[in-house]
Order: sequence, then structure tokens, then C-alpha cells
Amino acid sequence: MNDHLDFLAACRAIGCEATAQVPLSDYTTFRIGGAAEYFVSPDAPAQIGEVIRLCRAYQLPYFVLGKGSNLLVADGGVRGVIISTQKLDRIELLSDGKIRCESGVSLLRLCRFALDHSLTGLEFAYGIPGTAGGAAYMNAGAYGGEMRDVLLSCTHVEEDGEPGTFEGDALALRYRGSVYSDTARIITSLLIQLQPGDPAAIRDRMEELMARRRDKQPLEYPSAGSTFKRPTGYYAGALIEQCGLKGFAVGGAQVSDKHAGFVINRGGATAADVHAVIDHCRAVVQRETGVLLEPEVKFIG
Ligand SMILES: Cc1cc2nc3c(=O)[nH]c(=O)nc-3n(C[C@H](O)[C@H](O)[C@H](O)COP(=O)(O)OP(=O)(O)OC[C@H]3O[C@@H](n4cnc5c(N)ncnc54)[C@H](O)[C@@H]3O)c2cc1C
Repeated sequence: MNDHLDFLAACRAIGCEATAQVPLSDYTTFRIGGAAEYFVSPDAPAQIGEVIRLCRAYQLPYFVLGKGSNLLVADGGVRGVIISTQKLDRIELLSDGKIRCESGVSLLRLCRFALDHSLTGLEFAYGIPGTAGGAAYMNAGAYGGEMRDVLLSCTHVEEDGEPGTFEGDALALRYRGSVYSDTARIITSLLIQLQPGDPAAIRDRMEELMARRRDKQPLEYPSAGSTFKRPTGYYAGALIEQCGLKGFAVGGAQVSDKHAGFVINRGGATAADVHAVIDHCRAVVQRETGVLLEPEVKFIG
């Protein structure tokens, strides 16, 4: 069971696309990171359980990847298996304003689907560049809304490869976290509850929020969004700016001049550059203000 070439063949035998040495800079919005040892894309939830069992059999660690919009991948890459949800992209309208979608559906597509069916409640998520699964995992939120407002339940695959479901309070949705945080469960689908709405009003709100993002956020550069969580009673960006760190750079990584809450890749940044910027900001902000910033971005590899 130690021949890793067999691992790829075994993944392909169950219908998954599987490749070795895939540069993760192509799969993260930061455009940073070394290669994944293996990159596997199941195209049905049932295959995920099979892939997890294979990872265990071959003693390979695994990590689930959505759109990579909240990740910083190490320059040396990731040992083991990246399980991508990119092919889990089915979406379905149910009765009474409910939508079921697979975890790899982008929030952009989900929001447009809601708009096409005159359903309101997801406008806040328009412009968050992740998948539905990543948004449930993180309890993504913006402009006064969050996944907790619309998410009824999630189905997932347990660490032993068996299917499971969490609904309501059991999802433990909280600021940038959920029952899934720091576990190896893989979300396969979401059940979302929306309300009937006026399509013109839904579209206007989405466009308004997108315009606010373009105005305030450095969307012209690769990044992973807000680098730090919002400390209670403060804004991370305001604290960083107050400490004179706007524009602070190491190599290709820089605290955005436009929004100090974002570390951007201004060109050729390495993960080491980003870590150096993050560490410096944390140290200076703690020294100057007493507030310890906690990264929102997840580090892998
Ligand atoms: C320009 C920009 C703006 C952003 N604005 C916002 C914002 O307004 N609000 C906000 O909350 N976030 C924002 N983000 C951050 C990011 O888009 C969200 O955290 C998003 O929910 C991450 O989804 P993803 O699919 O990219 O997850 P990834 O980055 O791929 O993964 C993030 C975490 O979720 C886990 N994960 C992903 N999919 C699954 C799954 N199917 N099952 C189990 N675990 C999974 C991963 O293992 C990882 O731990 C922004 C990012 C960028 C680049």
C-alpha cells in the first residue's frame, strides 16, 4: 500500500480526476504556493468517501480545497492530497424558497441562481469569491449578512468516509467558524432557505455591494481578502493603519494602500513574504495598541 503511483490509479479507478505535483498558486486567489503532492477532483459526493478511504489506506494526509480564496499555501507546497470540490457544482431549486447546492458551487453562481428565481437573502454574499462549501465552513459574511442567516443544513463526509448531516444549531455557525472548523469533515452539499423577493431590488442590492467592494477593496491585486479577523470592538484594518503600516512591504507582499486590512500580492510574492508582513503587523499592532490580531487566512503546507 506504499506505492503512491498506485494511489493515483486507485483514484482514477473510482472515477476521479487525479494528478501529481499540481502548483497550488493556480488554485488560490493569492496566486502563491508550491505544489500539491496529489490533486484529486471527485465529481460526486459518494466519491469523496472513497477518496478519504484511499488516503487512509495509503497513509496520506488530505485537505479540502474550495476556491482557495481564504488560503495561504506554503512555498514548499503541500504533502499529501488536495481534494478539490471544483466538480461538485450541481444546484437545484426546491419548494418554498429552498435551494440545495453542492459544495463546489461558487457563491457568485449561487447568488445569480437566487436572483434568477426572485429569491432574496443571499445578496450579502455577492462578491465573496469562494465556494458554498467554503462559505459554510467559514460562516462567510459581509455587509450585515452571514451564512448563518440562510443555511439550514449541510451534508458532509466524516473522517471515516461515512456520510453525515448537521442542521440548525448543530452547525455551530459563529464569527468565521462552524462545526466544521479544524475538522477533516468534507461538506458535500448545503440546504439554503431564502424568501421571495423583488428581482430588481435584489439586483440593485447586489450591484450596490459589488460597487462598494470595488471602491474599498484592492480587487486589482491577488489577495485572500481580510488577512485578520475583526478583533472585538475594533477593525483590524483601522488598527494597522493607525500604526502607520499601510504600504508596509516585504518582497512582493504588501499591506494594501487602499485597505490596510488586506495583504496583497503586488507581484511575485512568496508565502514567506506574506508571513513576514503578517508577523510584523501583529507585533507592531500588539505593541502599539495591546490588541493581538488573529489571522483569518488559513495556512497550509
Ligand atoms: C477579494 C476577497 C474578498 C473577500 N471577502 C470576504 C467577505 O466579505 N466575507 C468573508 O467572509 N470572506 C471573504 N473573503 C474570504 C473567502 O472568500 C471566504 O472565506 C470564503 O468563504 C472561502 O471559500 P473558499 O471556497 O475559497 O474556501 P478555501 O479558501 O478553499 O478554504 C477555506 C477553508 O474552508 C475549508 N473548506 C472549503 N471547502 C470545504 C468543504 N467543501 N468542506 C469542508 N471544508 C471546506 C478549507 O479546508 C479551508 O480550511 C474574501 C476573499 C477575497 C480574496
